[in-house]
Amino acid sequence: MFNKILIANRGEIACRVAATCKRLGIASVAVYSDADANAKHVAACDEAVHIGGSTAAESYLRVERIIEAARATGAQAVHPGYGFLSENEDFAHACEAAGIVFIGPPVEAIAAMGSKAAAKALMHAAAVPLVPGYHGDDQDPQLLHREADAIGYPVLLKASAGGGGKGMRVVERTEDFAAALASCKREAASSFGNDRVLIEKYLTRPRHVEVQVFADRHGGAVYLFDRDCSVQRRHQKVLEEAPAPGLSAEIKREMGEAAVAAARAVNYVGAGTVEFIMTSTGDFYFMEMNTRLQVEHPVTEMVTGQDLVEWQLRVAADEPLPLTQQELKIDGHAIEARIYAEHPARGFLPSTGTLKHLRMPEGVEFSISAAGAGDSDRKAPVRIDSGVREGDTITPFYDPMIAKLIVHGATREEALARMNRALRACEVVGPHTNVEFLQRIVTSEPFATGDLDTGLIERHHDALFAPVKKPFKEALALACAALLTREGGTAHGASPWDALSHWRLNSGYTQTLGWRNIDNSENESVFPVTFARDGATQMLEHDGVREDFTWSAGTGQHEYRATIGDARVTGRVFIDGDTFHVFCLGDALAFEWQNLLAHAADAEGGEGRLTAPMPGKVIAVLVEPGTVVEKGTPLIVMEAMKMEHTIGAPAAGTVKEVLYAVGDQVADGAQLLVLDVG
Ligand code: ADP
Ligand code: ADP
Ligand code: MG
Repeated sequence: MFNKILIANRGEIACRVAATCKRLGIASVAVYSDADANAKHVAACDEAVHIGGSTAAESYLRVERIIEAARATGAQAVHPGYGFLSENEDFAHACEAAGIVFIGPPVEAIAAMGSKAAAKALMHAAAVPLVPGYHGDDQDPQLLHREADAIGYPVLLKASAGGGGKGMRVVERTEDFAAALASCKREAASSFGNDRVLIEKYLTRPRHVEVQVFADRHGGAVYLFDRDCSVQRRHQKVLEEAPAPGLSAEIKREMGEAAVAAARAVNYVGAGTVEFIMTSTGDFYFMEMNTRLQVEHPVTEMVTGQDLVEWQLRVAADEPLPLTQQELKIDGHAIEARIYAEHPARGFLPSTGTLKHLRMPEGVEFSISAAGAGDSDRKAPVRIDSGVREGDTITPFYDPMIAKLIVHGATREEALARMNRALRACEVVGPHTNVEFLQRIVTSEPFATGDLDTGLIERHHDALFAPVKKPFKEALALACAALLTREGGTAHGASPWDALSHWRLNSGYTQTLGWRNIDNSENESVFPVTFARDGATQMLEHDGVREDFTWSAGTGQHEYRATIGDARVTGRVFIDGDTFHVFCLGDALAFEWQNLLAHAADAEGGEGRLTAPMPGKVIAVLVEPGTVVEKGTPLIVMEAMKMEHTIGAPAAGTVKEVLYAVGDQVADGAQLLVLDVG
C-alpha cells in the first residue's frame, strides 16, 4: 500500500478521498487554486500545494503542474477524483511516465471508453446490448441525416467526447435535423475540442440504471450492483439510489454481468460505472462507461458496506479485489440528494455567494465508520459529504455543489422518510439552493412510488413548482421573537421598542412591524404585524387576527420558541442585516424587516425622517408637501433588483418635505422625505 498520495481534485470528492487516506494511515497531499486557498479540502489533507489561478484551466487541469507537485511532495500515487483530469488519458499517461501510479484504469481503457462512439463499437463486439443508432466514423452530414431518418424520430445527437450532460440535442423531426446537427457539432467542438457525433434512438420515458464495476490486475472483476439515477435535470443527475427499485433479480443479474463483460472487453482495472438506459419493459442498452469513481458512489457504499476509495487504493497498489462476487451482498436501500447552489425556478441556473449560515442534518461526515470493512456501526443512517463549511464561498469557477446528503434505510420507504426529514433539517443562507425543490421531488407521488424515468422533473414541472402553503404565521412569530430579542438588548434611541413608547394605548403599547416576504418565486408581499403589549399580555395581530404571543430565546444557537394563539413553534432565525431567515417546521422562509418604526423613531421632536431601506431608484412619489397621511399610507415607491418596494407612513402626520423625484437613484439609508408626526 502507498504511504502518500496526491489528490488532484477539490471540494467534497477531495475531502472524501482524504477521509479514507486518514483511516488507512496514508498521508494525503491537496492541490489548490487561488480561489481555494482556504478551502475545506486543503484543511482535510496533511499537506497542500498551490497550483495556480482560480479557473480550472489555470489549476486543476494543469497536468505538468500537478505531476510536479506529486514529485515535490514524494507522493507515490495520484487520485484524480471525478471531473477535471479523471478521464483524461494524457494525464494518466503523464503519471505513468513520471513513475507515479494513476489511481484509475489503464490509459488504454480510458481511451477506449473516452469516445462514446468507439466504445459502442467495442461493446457491440462484446455482445453488450446497444441503443439502436449510428456510431460510425463517417461524419458526412447527409449520411448522418439518412441514418437518423432510418432510425426514426425522435433521435438523440450526442457528442462522442461529451460528458456532464453537455453536447446533446433531441431531434423531433427530419426538418430539424440539419440545424440540430450543426449546433450539436458547434457545442461539441467548443466544449470537448472534438465535433464527432453519434446518433441514438431517443427513448421515451426511459430509466437511467447503472452498474458499479470493479476489476483488479489479477483477472478479478465484479459488479457492486446497480443504481437508479433517473431523476435528472438538464440530463444531469439530482437524486440517485441503490439498489434500482422495482427490477427483477434476473434483470439485475443480466445487467451486472453485461457490465462486467463491458469492463473485461477493455481490460478494465479499478472502479468504473457502466451506464444503461432502460425502457419501461425492462430492456436495457449500454449508454457509456465512466472510467472513474462516480459522484453517486456513496449509495453503493451504504448498501454494500464497502469503502470504494479503499478498493481503488488497494487495486492501484496491485492487491486483489477485497471481495468476490459471491461475498458481495446488499443491505437495505440508500438514496443520495445533490444539494446545489442553484435556482430551480430560473431554469436551475447556478447561484453563487458566501454560505453565511450552513446547517446540515445530524449525520456523519464521511467517516468510514459509515462504510468500513464490516464495522458494526457502518450503517450510520445519514451521511453528509461536503466540500464546504459555513463562511466559505460558492464561486463561479467550479461546480456549484454544496453537499451530498446520503441516507440509508432497511427499505426504500424508510430511506425516503429519512431523506425527507434530513432535507427538512438543511439550512442554507447565502446562495439560492435546490433544497426545497429536492423536498418536493422526494415527497412527490411518482418518486415516492418509485415510478422513475428521466422525464420525471419535466413532466411534473407544474406540480413541482406550484406555490406551496408555508407556515407564515409561525415563521413571523419567530422573526418577531428574534427581533424583540435583538432590540431588547439595545436601550438607545434608535430602537423602536424604546422610541415608540409614546404610542401608548391603554397603558400598553402597539407597534406595527413591516415584514416583506422574500421567496424564490419572486412574489413578494408585505405582512404588517402588530405587536401589542398590555401589562403582561403580549399579542401579535396578523391578517386581521389578534392572538396571544409569547416567546423566548431557545437553547441552541439562533434558536427561538414562540407561541402564537394555539400554535407552538421552535425554530432558528438567522439574521443577516435586515433579512430574517427563519427555519421552522421543515420550511425555510425569509422576511425583510422594513424597519418602518426605526425611521419614525427619529420623530421624537414631532418630525419623521423616512429613509431608503436599500439602494434603488425612485419610481413613484405619491405625496407632496402638505399631504395629510394616515399610518400606512404609501408615500414613495422604489425599485431595486427588479422588485418594487413601497414605503409607507409609519404613523399619521403631514408630509413636510419630499427630497427625491421620480427617476432619482438613492443610496441605502438616504432620507427620502420628512414627515410631521402627530
Ligand atoms: P456522475 O455520472 O458521476 O454523476 P457527471 O457526469 O455528473 O458524473 O460528472 C461528474 C463530474 O464531472 C461533475 O462535476 C461534472 O460537472 C464533471 N464532468 C463530467 N464530464 C465532464 C466533462 N466532459 N467536462 C467537464 N466536466 C465534466
Ligand atoms: P453524459 O456523458 O453527459 O453523462 P450520457 O450518454 O450518459 O451522457 O447521457 C446522459 C443522460 O441523457 C442519460 O442519463 C439519460 O437521461 C439521457 N439519455 C442518454 N441517451 C439517451 C437516449 N438514447 N434516449 C433517451 N435519453 C437518453
Ligand atoms: Mg453519463
